[in-house]
Amino acid sequence: MEDTVSYGYEQVAPAEKTRRVGEVFSSVARRYDLMNDLMSGGLHRMWKDSFVAMVKPRPGERVLDMAGGTGDIAFRMAARGASVTVSDINAAMLEVGEQRAAKRGIDGLTWQVENAEVLSFDSAAFDAYTIAFGIRNVTDIPAALKEARRVLKYGGRFFCLEFSTTDWPGFGRVYDAYSEKLVPQIGKYVAGDEASYRYLIESIRRFPTMPEFSKMIEAAGFARVSSRPILGGLVAIHSGWKI
Ligand code: SAM
Repeated sequence: MEDTVSYGYEQVAPAEKTRRVGEVFSSVARRYDLMNDLMSGGLHRMWKDSFVAMVKPRPGERVLDMAGGTGDIAFRMAARGASVTVSDINAAMLEVGEQRAAKRGIDGLTWQVENAEVLSFDSAAFDAYTIAFGIRNVTDIPAALKEARRVLKYGGRFFCLEFSTTDWPGFGRVYDAYSEKLVPQIGKYVAGDEASYRYLIESIRRFPTMPEFSKMIEAAGFARVSSRPILGGLVAIHSGWKI
């Protein structure tokens, strides 16, 4: 890994990024779901529905939802009968997720603290690996992609939902202005934490473009890598296969 990595618009030592990202999600965990609805006008729900529809989890399949946070993706996959392990580096996010699952009467999920860069799971343990709005927060992304491939069975599939860059010119400018100016303010008044939401927006800007990220997925050994833009690429669904 390089000596420094991007933490939003700053370059920091890798261990420092991991520490700061940990603080961000510990701070926002309680208000995370409400903030997602406010920031995206509820759109994140549709993006997550489309994502899970592409993953097509089947009854009995073992799926690892990495950086699963408060469980949004896992709940959708469990509803289709998959056997889901939700993992995240942040115990506070998983704790909120477990409480949400209990409230909704969703059981049968496995919740496990894990760092995506060094997983404790056996090799070839899962039919599918998903990561939604998580990969840009990981310090060593190539290491996480390699681990994703390792824990997948041969024939297993990798799916990643992440912000990207829209190529709709007018929309891109409006979204940039909205996200740079309004999102940190919403974070300040709703979650009491402007800095964390500033980081979350800046980290979107620093994330590789769709073709660049596809190359990183290929470099980790995945085959048939493809990406599907949503809203001109504001958000993208990336996929690849272990064959
Ligand atoms: N997947 C959920 C969703 O779509 O709502 C949560 C996404 S949240 C924006 C990003 C998550 O990535 C946080 O819960 C954070 O703790 C987690 N994360 C960051 N670095 C990680 C790492 N190295 N390993 C596992 N999870 C990580």
